[in-house]
Amino acid sequence: MSKHTFSIGGVHPHDSKISRECAIEKLPLAPTVYIQLSQHIGAPAKPVVAVGDKVKVGQVIAEPGGFVSAFIHSSVSGTVKSIAPRADLAGNPQMCIEIAVEGDDWADGIDTSDTLITDIPEDNKAIIEKIRLGGVVGLGGATFPTHVKLSPPPGSKCDRVIINGCECEPYLTSDFRTLLEKGEQVVVGAAILRQVMGNVPCTIAIEENKPEAIAHINEVIGKLGYKGIDVMPMKMRYPQGGEKQLIDAVMHRQVGSGALPISVGAVVQNVATALAVYDAVQKNKPIVDNSVTVTGECFPRQANLLVRVGTPLRYIIDYLGGVPENAVKVISGGPMMGRAVANLDAATLKGTGALLFLTAEQTLRAPETNCIRCGKCADACPMGLEPFLLNRLAKADKLEDLEKNAVQDCIECGCCLYSCPAHIPLLDNIRMAKGAVLGAIRARAAAKK
Ligand code: SF4
Ligand code: SF4
Repeated sequence: MSKHTFSIGGVHPHDSKISRECAIEKLPLAPTVYIQLSQHIGAPAKPVVAVGDKVKVGQVIAEPGGFVSAFIHSSVSGTVKSIAPRADLAGNPQMCIEIAVEGDDWADGIDTSDTLITDIPEDNKAIIEKIRLGGVVGLGGATFPTHVKLSPPPGSKCDRVIINGCECEPYLTSDFRTLLEKGEQVVVGAAILRQVMGNVPCTIAIEENKPEAIAHINEVIGKLGYKGIDVMPMKMRYPQGGEKQLIDAVMHRQVGSGALPISVGAVVQNVATALAVYDAVQKNKPIVDNSVTVTGECFPRQANLLVRVGTPLRYIIDYLGGVPENAVKVISGGPMMGRAVANLDAATLKGTGALLFLTAEQTLRAPETNCIRCGKCADACPMGLEPFLLNRLAKADKLEDLEKNAVQDCIECGCCLYSCPAHIPLLDNIRMAKGAVLGAIRARAAAKK
């Protein structure tokens, strides 16, 4: 088997993919959805509907609020009930469009059939416009608007498109199921992406613990006859699916501090994003739903659900049997990079990929002790940072020194925390410090204007 992997740091958590056999099933429509206006990186979208309006599935309900922003579409048909702040997953107020569901009427021009369309339009500008109009954002976690990523700044050149099918976070299986069940659409999406970037080679990177997906995608590529797309089996290692780590593993190129992947000729898109690109370009279908893994040893029924954007978490959980009595924590995402859910009445976003339930035993952290300067956190850091130092600077609130020591490069992977024998909450402290440094950088930039 392959040894393709990144060159520094990383850890080997148990993969715990207990929902891997669960085929994607459609979640019945919730009675009401709450569609957040800020669910991508960049400016929040601006509503273009009013209370009382009737909307259809796939209809634009909010338009981009800036260059880096995205269209938002109704995920249901029904009536707009309110446009008002509502608590998000973290409990913070976010503007949402509330829609009461009445049937399932789709907007005109959207192809909802299962017919696979393999002929790719020739006009790359028109393709990018369709991706923009489809509200496509990176679904691997970053939610960066895809049309912006596909329009590199003048002077930069893409040498390779990488489709990230690693799904290296423990427990998550929605990308795996997408590769198995929508492999044709993902490969057409990959072919579209490589064409848009100048007919460059495209690598679909899949970790070795998904041999069925590797075999299936190889078969699909052969069947569809696309040239320039290959599958690269990757070593199982976390965070193999990190953008910079994947570029290192596939292209042996290092993205510098603060630089973008395009600076070394790479464009990375996740499997679910490739599917969304296929939908937007070939079927005229915007992002109105996404696959969500619902899992955890204590959870009554493991599942991969196709969920309409804006569905309340409580509705999903109740459909699967309710919150187990012994669950004390719900995480949106995986155990390494996910965020604790503070509000089960919050609704899903385009980028919601998983809900993970944990017991008290699984969340119990051993008491923090003093740093013994073992260096294990630095050995594990895939970004070459010194987490023990960043932690010390964070505690002393030394923002300038944190910036000098590249705290902004931290990808919040949690490898340092995972490795620390003193159980120091390195990730929590560094994440907070990163936010403070970002605030200081923004304030500096604003003062210069
Ligand atoms: S969370 Fe940040 S500091 Fe810790 S290992 Fe990951 S990249 Fe390094
Ligand atoms: S792993 Fe923990 S104990 Fe070891 S150097 Fe890092 S912070 Fe200190």
